[in-house]
Amino acid sequence: MADTRFQGPGPDAVFEAGMAEGEFRIQCCGSCGAHIHYPRALCPECGSAELDSVRASGEGTVHATSVVRVRPGHGEDYNIALVDLAEGPRMMTRVVDIEPGAVRIGDAVTAFVGEIEGNRVVLFRPAAAPASGGDR
Ligand SMILES: [Zn+2]
Repeated sequence: MADTRFQGPGPDAVFEAGMAEGEFRIQCCGSCGAHIHYPRALCPECGSAELDSVRASGEGTVHATSVVRVRPGHGEDYNIALVDLAEGPRMMTRVVDIEPGAVRIGDAVTAFVGEIEGNRVVLFRPAAAPASGGDR
């Protein structure tokens, strides 16, 4: 008989598996409905272990931002930010595809799975501007 006491991978493994597939997953509590990130075993709101992994919308808003200055010859300056996900959790991340220092509090940003120094990580870029083409 198979041992069924523990079913499936732990929360970190589920998150990493999502990253490997280019998908940003967060957790949703089956008991109180809270969204959770980073992954954990118990809901911080209600203590339930009934946590499902769901695909994050990827929509976020910049809560705070700063520029990390890198010494010349050691890479380029980059934006770090605290981003509030549409689902609720707040996470520390980088905002790319925009000049260092150009990120503003309240900016809409979109998550994607990128790579830093060989590690897959969740990064953000400015949300696509509303379509401006056409003259109607
Ligand atoms: Zn909960």
